[in-house]
Amino acid sequence: MRRINTRRIKAKYSYSLQELANVINCHPNTISGWIKNEGLRRIDGIYPYMIYGQVVIEFLKMRQLKNKTKLLLTEFRCCTCQATSTAWEGIATIATINSKIAMLQAVCERCNGKISKIISLKNSAEIEKTFSIHTLQSSALIQSTNTNCETKGV
Ligand SMILES: [Zn+2]
Repeated sequence: MRRINTRRIKAKYSYSLQELANVINCHPNTISGWIKNEGLRRIDGIYPYMIYGQVVIEFLKMRQLKNKTKLLLTEFRCCTCQATSTAWEGIATIATINSKIAMLQAVCERCNGKISKIISLKNSAEIEKTFSIHTLQSSALIQSTNTNCETKGV
């Protein structure tokens, strides 16, 4: 999703949907969708709808934070230290599971715990550029991996 620049919104100003749409460069329907479906608060009792700039800024910041929890290609969710982490020294092992997916396994840079995630082989070229890859026999790797700790990755 496109990142919206909240700096262009004035906190002390009240916006109509059209004005706000112009400021953040989107369609007014997108904003009415946020009101209906995502809990953006409009100013009560005014029609057509008006929204406080401050409310929009907070709403968009929260929304962008939520979207950020999706892992990047280089990131893993470590179940030992409970953090989003990266592979130690950028080294990872890869084992094909079937024609579409593979298991990427590495050592957590923060706590030295084992980290792993399922990757799509569509991304394998990018993964080979990103990591220093060691290929393992797939059966050996899968058996040694705690399957409760997999994170769905890219
Ligand atoms: Zn860790």
